[in-house]
Amino acid sequence: MSRPVSSLPFRTLLAAGVAALLAACALPLASESEIDTQGDAEFQKIRNKTPLSTDAGRRAYVNCVASAIVRELPPPYVDQDWEIEIFESEEINAFALPGGHIGVFTGMFKVAENQDQLAAVIGHEVAHVTEKHALKRYNREATTQIGVVGVAVATGTGQAGMDLGGMVAKLGLSLPFSRGEESEADTVGLRYMAKAGFDPRQSVALWQNMQKKSKLGPPEMLSTHPSSEHRIDELIAQFPETLKLYNEAQAAGKKPRCQR
Ligand SMILES: [Zn+2]
Repeated sequence: MSRPVSSLPFRTLLAAGVAALLAACALPLASESEIDTQGDAEFQKIRNKTPLSTDAGRRAYVNCVASAIVRELPPPYVDQDWEIEIFESEEINAFALPGGHIGVFTGMFKVAENQDQLAAVIGHEVAHVTEKHALKRYNREATTQIGVVGVAVATGTGQAGMDLGGMVAKLGLSLPFSRGEESEADTVGLRYMAKAGFDPRQSVALWQNMQKKSKLGPPEMLSTHPSSEHRIDELIAQFPETLKLYNEAQAAGKKPRCQR
């Protein structure tokens, strides 16, 4: 039996009404430069509230690893002037932000035991930036009501209480990454580290160390970079490809010796 034809106009009107309502509530889409501006501002905020490490050795070590990774990024990221900072904090955390910023908390050294493991962390973080996860996420959330309501609840402000920059920062930069984004950052990050001459097999040890620390309370990094039970298996599955890149890098003389 077919549906009564008379119900169609009503449903069409209803759909149009809902669409209009959503459009009225939806946020404007952000551009790449807007995301970069928010990345700059977020980085400045973190700098203002977290003491910088004065340990010259550690600063040189992180700079050595991060610079080697940056040299392997695709354009335009490879030509960007990346700001690399080491924060004195027990937090087991690291991050990269659009606009060209990399931050490593000294607590990360409790988990990343050598240059290759630190390269795995930085490669993963930078991959979130080069894959434009913040921009994609903001624009995805901006077109749905769910994100707006979620932020209004989380921040105690209505949509009108926050400017576009604040919304971009909240929706694009602060929310935990999705499983798909995590998996993509793992894959892309693994390639970056291998191309820089860091041993991609050490990524497994890194995430295992991270899991071990979880027993005493989850590392801050895992709250924004949720680990799936398949993470280790997925990394191992990519060894044939990434070890090839690693061997090529080594053969080309890319043998980083970043001293901790
Ligand atoms: Zn991640």
